Amino acid sequence: MSDSFLPYGRQVIEDDDIEAVARVLRSDYLTTGPEIPAFEAEFSRWHGGAVHCIACNSATAGLHLALDALGVAPGDVCIVPSLTFLATANAARYCGAEVVFADVDPQSGLMTPATLDAAILRARTRFSGARLAAVLPVHLAGLPCDLETLHARVQAEGAVLVADSCHALASRWTDAGGQSRLVGDAGFCDAAVFSFHPVKTLACGEGGMVTTRHEEAAETMRRRRSHGIERDPVRMGEPRAGEWPWYHEMGELGWNYRMPDINAALGRSQLAKLSRFAARRRELTSLYEEALKPLAPLVLPPAGRAETDSCRHLMNVRIDFEAAGVARETVMERLKDRGVGSQVHYIPVHTQPYYTARYGPERLPGADTYYARTLSLPLYPAMADDDPARVAGALAEALEAG
Ligand SMILES: *Cc1c(COP(=O)(O)O)cnc(C)c1O
Repeated sequence: MSDSFLPYGRQVIEDDDIEAVARVLRSDYLTTGPEIPAFEAEFSRWHGGAVHCIACNSATAGLHLALDALGVAPGDVCIVPSLTFLATANAARYCGAEVVFADVDPQSGLMTPATLDAAILRARTRFSGARLAAVLPVHLAGLPCDLETLHARVQAEGAVLVADSCHALASRWTDAGGQSRLVGDAGFCDAAVFSFHPVKTLACGEGGMVTTRHEEAAETMRRRRSHGIERDPVRMGEPRAGEWPWYHEMGELGWNYRMPDINAALGRSQLAKLSRFAARRRELTSLYEEALKPLAPLVLPPAGRAETDSCRHLMNVRIDFEAAGVARETVMERLKDRGVGSQVHYIPVHTQPYYTARYGPERLPGADTYYARTLSLPLYPAMADDDPARVAGALAEALEAG
């Protein structure tokens, strides 16, 4: 058992990761060099090889690029679950779209077909005449949503599905045909988006990846992540472009959403270890489930769907603080005194001042209930086998009334 402080999440950086970054620092390209296509190709291969991958400098940029390339435009409506990181909703706003927040299942924190249907009805009344352009389910904590059912609903509405998969790298689910899928294979999605922020399952410092099966959207994202610049003479309007080595065309507006080669080298090195990281997260999750059993029903792990095999990003447990008679902030303080970090994921986005100012106050009972109970306990591959029991012990003490 380690007696050092356990943060709620932490990156794993090993000597070969440092060497991979140093190799790029000694090379000719710090950005827009060979590491980017190599990282994209390896990420695609890790996901079965059928997806186009677009590396960018954050998942926030990736969400914006994906929505933009899939045609989300000003005045459109996007549906986003309220229980997510702010970036999911903000990406819709960057496109000029309005956000309708879907409620979530209070047990899992996930958008469900029923909460999506309710949000579609609210979108129709609140923004009548506007087009529903995109739905962005979030695989919260790494628990896969029911993508197959959600996708069928979204397609029936003529919208696209962009799965915020930032928590769910290496998570699997089984479709109705019995096929096991990785969320990143972008089956039953128009795009899936990943983050490589240090607390996520794979760390680049900052970084993101979009996976999609749509070739044209992938090309659009590649152009627009670098100002909308086209360098391929075959696709340029100017017929003599191929003869002028300096020539490039900007036919549309893009951004600087490029991932540096430094980050991509770290990402490639980490990707080579992803299977090990994912296996360790699954082991620690099982150890937690055992260690937390004596604390039920006061403390419960979130209920994932049966046909899923999650690689958890967060050990987000549900705690009945009211029944325990201890406030969450007190529990967090007591955990900290016992060397255990914790965090709350997330404050429902529909309650953020920016969104209440724009759309007015709103009650989403599933999200509110989930938020009132959630607490994320430490989970990262470098934890020791007996750390989950240490955390569970500290939590039992922290929950004692008084
Ligand atoms: C981390 C995260 C993001 C944003 O990722 P960045 O790479 O930091 O931009 C978006 N959505 C969810 C659910 C996240 O956890």
